Amino acid sequence: MNLASCYIENNTSALDQTYTYQFKNEPVEIGKRVLVNFNYRECVAFVDSIEMNSSKTFPYEIKPILSVLDEQPILNAEMIDLAKWISKTSISTVISALQAMVPPALKPKSNDIKIKMEKWVRPLDDHTKTPKQAMLYERLIKEGEMKRSEWLKLSSLSKKLEEMGCVEIFEKEKRTYEEVIEKKPCHIVLNEEQKHAVERILHSSKDVIALKGVTGSGKTEVYLHAAEAVLKQGREVLILVPEISLTPLMVKRVQERFGNDVAIYHSGLSAQQKYEQYQSVRGKEKRIVVGTRSAVFMPFSDLGLIILDEEHDLSYKQDQNCRYHARDVALHRAKTHHARVVLASATPSLDTMARALKKVYELVEIKHRVNQSLPHVKLINMNEVIRKKQSYILSDEMITEMRKTLDRKQQIILLLNRRGYQPILRCSQCGKVLMCPHCDKPLVLHKEKNTLNCHLCGTVLKRIYECPQCHGKLSGSGFGTQMLEEKVAQLFPDARLIRMDADTTTRKNAHETLLKAFENHEADILLGTQMISKGLDFENVTLVGILQGDAMLARSDYRSAELTFDLLTQASGRSGRGNTNGKVLIQVYDEDHYAIQCALKQDYDSFFRHEMQYRHLAGYPPYTYLCALTFISKDESGSDEANHVMKLLKEKDFKVLGVSELLKIQDEKRYRICVKSKSLELLQKEIYDVYQHHRTSKSRVKLHIDMNPLTLDD
Ligand code: ADP
Ligand code: ZN
Repeated sequence: MNLASCYIENNTSALDQTYTYQFKNEPVEIGKRVLVNFNYRECVAFVDSIEMNSSKTFPYEIKPILSVLDEQPILNAEMIDLAKWISKTSISTVISALQAMVPPALKPKSNDIKIKMEKWVRPLDDHTKTPKQAMLYERLIKEGEMKRSEWLKLSSLSKKLEEMGCVEIFEKEKRTYEEVIEKKPCHIVLNEEQKHAVERILHSSKDVIALKGVTGSGKTEVYLHAAEAVLKQGREVLILVPEISLTPLMVKRVQERFGNDVAIYHSGLSAQQKYEQYQSVRGKEKRIVVGTRSAVFMPFSDLGLIILDEEHDLSYKQDQNCRYHARDVALHRAKTHHARVVLASATPSLDTMARALKKVYELVEIKHRVNQSLPHVKLINMNEVIRKKQSYILSDEMITEMRKTLDRKQQIILLLNRRGYQPILRCSQCGKVLMCPHCDKPLVLHKEKNTLNCHLCGTVLKRIYECPQCHGKLSGSGFGTQMLEEKVAQLFPDARLIRMDADTTTRKNAHETLLKAFENHEADILLGTQMISKGLDFENVTLVGILQGDAMLARSDYRSAELTFDLLTQASGRSGRGNTNGKVLIQVYDEDHYAIQCALKQDYDSFFRHEMQYRHLAGYPPYTYLCALTFISKDESGSDEANHVMKLLKEKDFKVLGVSELLKIQDEKRYRICVKSKSLELLQKEIYDVYQHHRTSKSRVKLHIDMNPLTLDD
């Protein structure tokens, strides 16, 4: 009997193990998908291992594999090992790791997304033909093969030749036609700091380089030069950017240098597009990939260099299902491929910087901007602004500076990290705040469609004007991007505005379209949430205004100072990237906080020292490793289980914080404990045991495990 161990498509932790099926002569191979019967249902499963002619006996009946879905294995040994490694280290099911890794068209679950095929023709047999038929046939021989649709268009005789059996019709995977991309000659001569960086990336004795370069220091140029050298060795290159809004700019620069050798991979592509890009890397047609988080899973065969641009960015971590961090995956894959890794940022994560200072990574710095000095940054104290009875949205100073910039025909970026119109609606009679009916979260007024939205669970309700309890009038407080847009339009009726936030970028390619319009100076002011704060490089922007610059400090999260410093520094870096000096105005209430003061001076090193002291005292990463376990239930049972697990872990000498009751989401209560350890391996092993125990215990409580959580929000 031939046996195959398979992972079933279902992402339920209870099924996170292999199941054995038998087969006879079918072409079952490791890494292929098969159809099997599981629990009286047909399911897709991944073949994990095979045993031919097994003499094993089982106390139960071994069911047969119903059919084999793939002609070629879609996963190689590296990918299967990687899925298991992710499952073990980020404590998630193997199938959820596989689902994160392969493009949607190949996902175990989605065997109904058909890979698009199209008909092609090629010459088959030399029957006797009329001269006209022969001419047509000659043409086909010359082409080798043709799309059938084009072949039929050639002549009315095409069909006849098919009927005579002169041509063979066959199927090929559909490929979208690609335009030839012209390479642009590169006239840039690297400066000394950049040259040094490229040299270290290629020749350091360490495999990982922490590249710390201020915004506008020409890091991207460094990537392109290092990439070129690695491609020349015949090896592959991966360039990761944190957000989909940054892909168009990076893609453009990489394509200008390397033409059609570039594959693009991000969540904005259709299933078919993703599949084609994936295949083009697997088939070694393309050797450079530019993409977001999930591009870290592209099927490379000889990866030589991985670059994480803005490595500190939180978007590199997937925050649901399989909570992997692209940086960890990149480091792991680099080991397998003997590739080099560049972790680049103007504001490196504390974890990366700490490792660089410990000489685990090599630290390379670029301290100067390419053409000009850093922008001039100034704080505006909003307490005083309000005392002077100016607007709490835009201070007089901000307005004056905006006017001057517009008069000079230069552009402005306004950052406000809060979407919607007004974040809080309160009853003027009873004082109650209007909450989401399913979550412990205030509803946000969205004026465009006159709705009340929950930003946690996505509930959208029709706007009401009276308190549902006492019928008092509702009044709003605070402001989001929609209100800011309204205010700016009133103040500057002639200025052209673009708003960019989660609500204006739902449509496909919206990011690209909006940014392109701003780049072409079709708008004077770009306003939006953090998605406009990083990586953007617009020469004509000379004023960046940041509103509520200290809002994030109010969060209870241990990383809130780091997030604030990053946001302010990154956003400031958008100003003055051309030949004119830039200005940055930051409106804050708490101007004395060290995160604000260090951002004001653009002083990463002081910030790092300050923040590391705090982390050391409080026992937070990078001094320890953390794991957050959230127990979710409709009733109190989550709390009981959390307390039980906490006791077990404390008995094993782990430091455990909790149990804290978090905000309710979608009618479910959430209880969290936080486990700390000096040893990541020990922590992973222990939490994996908790997970194994929980998943086989038939408990009704849901358990979310977040290893190395980036935020500990409530
Ligand atoms: P970063 O990625 O560090 O923010 P970029 O690589 O985007 O910086 O560089 C900023 C600008 O400077 C870009 O327009 C780039 O073309 C230009 N640039 C980079 N290096 C040089 C150089 N050595 N000489 C001239 N211009 C350069
Ligand atoms: Zn809600």
